[in-house]
Amino acid sequence: MCGIVGIYGNDDVFKDIYQGLLAIQHRGQDSAGIITYDDRFHIKKGNGLVRDIFTAENVQRLKGNIGIGHTRYPTIGGGRGEDAQPFIVNSPFGIIMAHNGNVINYAQLKKILFDKYHRLLNSDNDVEVILNIFAQELVEQKTKSLKPQNVYKAVEGVFKKVRGSYSVIAYIAEQGIVAFRDPYGIKPLAYGKRDDGLLPSYAIASESVSLNIMNFSYIKNVEAGQVIFIDKNRRLYTQKLANCPHRPCLFEWVYFARPDSFIDNVNVYDCRVNLGRLLADEIKKHNLKIDVVVPVPDSARDAAIEIARKLNLKYREALVKNRYIGRTFIMPDDQARKSSVRQKLNPITSEFEGKNILLVDDSIVRGNTSRAIIQLVRECGAKKVYFAVYSPPLRYPCVYGIDMQTKTEFVARNANLDQIAKKIGADKVIYQSLESLKKAVRLGNKKLTDFCGACFDGVYPTGDVTPEILKAIEKERKLVHDSQLELNI
Ligand code: SF4
Repeated sequence: MCGIVGIYGNDDVFKDIYQGLLAIQHRGQDSAGIITYDDRFHIKKGNGLVRDIFTAENVQRLKGNIGIGHTRYPTIGGGRGEDAQPFIVNSPFGIIMAHNGNVINYAQLKKILFDKYHRLLNSDNDVEVILNIFAQELVEQKTKSLKPQNVYKAVEGVFKKVRGSYSVIAYIAEQGIVAFRDPYGIKPLAYGKRDDGLLPSYAIASESVSLNIMNFSYIKNVEAGQVIFIDKNRRLYTQKLANCPHRPCLFEWVYFARPDSFIDNVNVYDCRVNLGRLLADEIKKHNLKIDVVVPVPDSARDAAIEIARKLNLKYREALVKNRYIGRTFIMPDDQARKSSVRQKLNPITSEFEGKNILLVDDSIVRGNTSRAIIQLVRECGAKKVYFAVYSPPLRYPCVYGIDMQTKTEFVARNANLDQIAKKIGADKVIYQSLESLKKAVRLGNKKLTDFCGACFDGVYPTGDVTPEILKAIEKERKLVHDSQLELNI
């Protein structure tokens, strides 16, 4: 999961891109980069948070009315400085590109690019593969001035070769800005317009909240398999190039996206409230005696409030999160993980003492964090601890850019509900069904007929996820985890 922002504007765009990236910092805190263009490219990239990488000096230096920004969450590639996006190629024209997603045939394409086209890729970042394939497709058209058809043809070439999920923004020097979403539209992408000069300004971003904050309106989604091209005269062209079923990532509404964003026209906050309501129906069936509903902060709050309202129960924010602790370094053993949870969350003991507690969370991955939280609540004197999760059990790895652990580490893998409850130390675990999750999203947009829910049911929309690919991705993930940081999902 990463965040991308691109602008073709009337004035210098650095400040807008900076604001747009800050709005989607939750999509990746590993590294960030901005490249702008006036009559040449101006580049600044680095490891860390957006606010720490860009300084007042960058405002002076990153000139130009066109630019692309990226905030990174490491998937393919280990998060080294040279893996920070956007990437650049000098030929043809000079092209910059950033993406959100994961290319699953990355290794084969990297080899083909070298063997067949003598293009040496200098990083482990999969956007470099997309960029070089796109550039090669343009080279082969041998044109000095690009028309929309040239751009469509190049994107078609990308669609034919690149497997996986990718939402992409690129700028081709003196030609125009391009954005496209993979044929299944797994990762989100939206664009908007701002009337602030003789010609309109356009912006494209991973989440609508970036466009809101940069004052862009008339917001639309880039559709699955669609390309948009804004040429040097600021004319906007759009074309649908693939007709695969749209399969957006369900986890965007569960956890990734900001509640104030719209993903494919579904408000994330409303969806989480709906998820709470549907989960309350499921909880009711168990006839539990619950004294108080407590969310695991922060993402579970919206659903937990609705559960308490629907079940007519007391709601208390009795786990207090320290917002100033960032991600925690990998904790090699369970004891160390427990202390990391302890640093992040502090309980209000009186809210738990002698009571039956319903904890609400968005998901359970390995179960270590849930186990540590449940233990914390028990140490406060809780009588019973029930654990309700407003997404279904996670059982399969995501190959589309979300760094979940390998399949053997999922607490729900090969386990029934009683076994999961035992593993995390709960008196009962209640999950949302996959059907209810889909229903909650569809309540916001009836046109969404199907989704990617592969981490729940193992059905990968791109259909070509072989055991070898899974193995290679798991190996890559293990390297990232062993050498770097624990990601907090
Ligand atoms: S596998 Fe899960 S997290 Fe990955 S894209 Fe699909 S729904 Fe999203």
